Amino acid sequence: MSKTGFEREERIQFEGEDYAFDTLAVRAGQRRTGEGEHSDPIYLTSSYVFSSAREAAARFNGDEEGNIYSRFTNPTVQAFERRIAAMEGAERAVATSSGMAAIMSLGIALLQQGDHVVCSRSVFGSTVSLFNKYLTRAGIETSYVDPTDLDDWRAAIKPNTKMLFMETPSNPLAELTDIEAVSKIAHDHDALLAVDNCFCTPALQQPLKLGADIVIHSATKYLDGQGRCVGGVVVGSDKLMEEIFGYVRTCGACLSPFNAWNFLKGLETLKLRMTAQSQAAMELAQWLEQQTGIDKVYYAGLESHPQHALALKQQSGFGGVLSFEVAGDKDAAFDFIDATEMLSITGNLGDVKTTITHPGTTTHGRMSPEERADAGIKDNLIRVSVGLEDMDDIKADLLRGLAVI
Ligand SMILES: *Cc1c(COP(=O)(O)O)cnc(C)c1O
Repeated sequence: MSKTGFEREERIQFEGEDYAFDTLAVRAGQRRTGEGEHSDPIYLTSSYVFSSAREAAARFNGDEEGNIYSRFTNPTVQAFERRIAAMEGAERAVATSSGMAAIMSLGIALLQQGDHVVCSRSVFGSTVSLFNKYLTRAGIETSYVDPTDLDDWRAAIKPNTKMLFMETPSNPLAELTDIEAVSKIAHDHDALLAVDNCFCTPALQQPLKLGADIVIHSATKYLDGQGRCVGGVVVGSDKLMEEIFGYVRTCGACLSPFNAWNFLKGLETLKLRMTAQSQAAMELAQWLEQQTGIDKVYYAGLESHPQHALALKQQSGFGGVLSFEVAGDKDAAFDFIDATEMLSITGNLGDVKTTITHPGTTTHGRMSPEERADAGIKDNLIRVSVGLEDMDDIKADLLRGLAVI
């Protein structure tokens, strides 16, 4: 098949065709209206019309495929799903209204009362609340393990363990988990492995190829990349995604077509952004390690990171997020953050604008002090998600912080 020519939309389908990641990121999944538009259209419609009552009946009872209502299917949302599935090397993706809705869909669609989950203790704060409060009410129990310790993962498995859940690299301390090794532990016990791939994105890490069964994303972060929309996605096999789709379609955690369109645009530049933001984070991490007033830097790209070798093995870049401890206590960290002038003080990450966060009182503020201590999140810890501004300007802003501690 020719590699040129734009008119055949099916040409870039990943099923049956072997295109490179960069090509898929730009082209996979696009649907054209027939008007000849080049950019992806937004199908901003809540419902669809039928040519006859007979056709409506056939669609509703499943005899005929096609759109019915945008809580079920929407062409723009499907274009996003097909593109991210292609980029993760998955059979299928199901888009959700947020990253948390993606994680919730795993709990409700794939687990049931009496099931047990083994989860890394270094996962997103709301993920812990979801497991501990809402899934516990549904009779699903969760145990937490040290994400870096394979024996801990093995020891936590019970006869009723149905899912292992991890985030690697973790937020904010960049702890890594060996995806391939943990997938073997999961499969030895007929459990599923789900990976939150938010920090690396498929541009830097493809967990399904390392043995994971499911990948989830908060599309809000790097997939969007410019801090515009909230959304999420689950990817995996047709069989598992059919269950997830059933939950999303019925319970309503569906993605808006407008947000899906923004994510489609974000995916087109994902690899470029991830490469540039990883390079910038690496430079900044090395620079921060040299500064007086910085006690410790957490970034898997540094040779001082205990899991640097694992990062080299399972990732193709180190990502754009790093964190560091400043000399002093919480007040020193607050003073440092407040002295910056350009960086955005926000809990969000993955934006082209560099953001600065005090995890202990924001993203991880709902954990108890003991839970935070267990997770290694100290009061003097600051997280930076490196954007695309000029590196000298970013350093100059951090120097303003360093000057006041
Ligand atoms: C932000 C985030 C989530 C939650 O995603 P939302 O889109 O905010 O619901 C889940 N996991 C990680 C790692 C995140 O950073």
